[in-house]
Amino acid sequence: MSETISNDDEQGDDVRRFYISKSKFLWGLQCPKLLWTAYNAKHLIPEPDAAQQAIFDQGHEVGALVKQMFPDGVEVGDGVLDLDETIRLTQKAIKLRKPLFEAAFSAEGGYCRVDILQPSPKDAWDIIEVKSTTSLKDVHLDDLAFQTWVLTSAGLKIRACYLCHINPDFIRRGEIDPKKFFVLEDVMARVASLSRNVEDKLGDMFKTIRQRQHPDIKIGPHCDDPYTCALHDPCWKFLPEHNVLDLYRGTKKGFGLLDDRVTLLKDIPDDLKLTANQAIQKATAVSGKPHVNKTAISKFLGGLEYPLHYLDFETLGTAIPLFDDVRPYQQMPFQFSLHIVHEPEAKPEHVMFLAEGRHDPRPEFMLKLRDAIGRSGSIVAFNAPFELGRLRECCEVMPGFSTWLKGIEGRVVDLLDPFRSFDYYHPDQQGSASMKAVLPALTGKGYEGLAIQEGGAASREFLRVTFGDVPEAERQEVRKHLEEYCGQDTEGMIWIVEALRKPAG
Ligand code: SF4
Repeated sequence: MSETISNDDEQGDDVRRFYISKSKFLWGLQCPKLLWTAYNAKHLIPEPDAAQQAIFDQGHEVGALVKQMFPDGVEVGDGVLDLDETIRLTQKAIKLRKPLFEAAFSAEGGYCRVDILQPSPKDAWDIIEVKSTTSLKDVHLDDLAFQTWVLTSAGLKIRACYLCHINPDFIRRGEIDPKKFFVLEDVMARVASLSRNVEDKLGDMFKTIRQRQHPDIKIGPHCDDPYTCALHDPCWKFLPEHNVLDLYRGTKKGFGLLDDRVTLLKDIPDDLKLTANQAIQKATAVSGKPHVNKTAISKFLGGLEYPLHYLDFETLGTAIPLFDDVRPYQQMPFQFSLHIVHEPEAKPEHVMFLAEGRHDPRPEFMLKLRDAIGRSGSIVAFNAPFELGRLRECCEVMPGFSTWLKGIEGRVVDLLDPFRSFDYYHPDQQGSASMKAVLPALTGKGYEGLAIQEGGAASREFLRVTFGDVPEAERQEVRKHLEEYCGQDTEGMIWIVEALRKPAG
């Protein structure tokens, strides 16, 4: 029931190599090399990392919630690893004519477990696939097409297919009613036409798996579509620094250049049409020096008014909202760091907030932030619409802060602007204007020494130590790491502005 394609029926390949499970079928659709590796060199496929594991865990929580809609549902083969046994147990359970969770089927070398199999009239069944996304995606249809084909081939009459995903308009008010939380989309017509091709595709996949060597597949956009491939790192590691896939908004052009054996930005032929930003990338790759539009950078810096407030938020967004007045995946602020530089050359003052306790962090967050931000001076954020968006959402549920927010909105400056516009571009940014690319490129400083190095990890760690059963000493340690990480983001902005002042000054 998780959104990612591995691990839901992983056992299918460990125990019975002649089955292609649903997740591996989807891998096979994405890339034959990935499929081959999964069966012939499985050790090359890394275990899920913390971010992927968090997605699995979230999928399991969503799966548990959906089951509440089927109070007479029967769990089939819970914890059973032997595939034949899961299939046998399913055959028994089917006779009950009750909703079945994780019913298992195999046919013609395909194996799948169905999230929910619901009895329908005339001895037929409905397949319900549960996803923790807020919308239907093409890959979900492939997933259902495979299940439909396996079940039909195994002799079941399938009346309908549904994709059950999270209602994006749901707002929590008290206990969650799964009937309001989920949306059921009837996708039978689209799935039926796709399932007609499953047999042929499965046949091709068996041929691929039996090859002595992996198919020679070039990297391409498919490496990240529909999911980032598990072999992304080893397949892409041949690319040197400053390569053509760094081209800003130039994925197609980049792969075209690779096809023509042009790997480095500096080697792009002069007759190839580049956008203005791509041309800057090529020029900086050739010169090794940053591109600076001095007039624009001076104008940007001239717009900064002391005291400068460097502001950054950390947020969390869970599939199942933790608090009232929150939507699924809504990013809720739980931490801010604010560095205030009162005048040029002054030592920055640092104010921080990190929510404590298991209650909604927003009221205290807003109070502390309102107290901390002075009455004048610029408020500098990197990708400021994100911070402003969170503040506006907070004001929707706490309208008492609206007047304050309106008063400060005009003072907000987006430090991303000079980089997104390519008024400043350093070749080491490698096509990215993100803070994680800009900070080391401009200042030589980064996040390497920190225990938490990116926002996703900050969110996961906050959730873990706040809502999980974690020893107090570890909890305090993680909170210290969270403060260091968020503090680095705002201090990093000070360093970036200092670096911008140098070439413009
Ligand atoms: S990274 Fe790309 S080429 Fe390599 S196995 Fe994955 S999808 Fe295929």
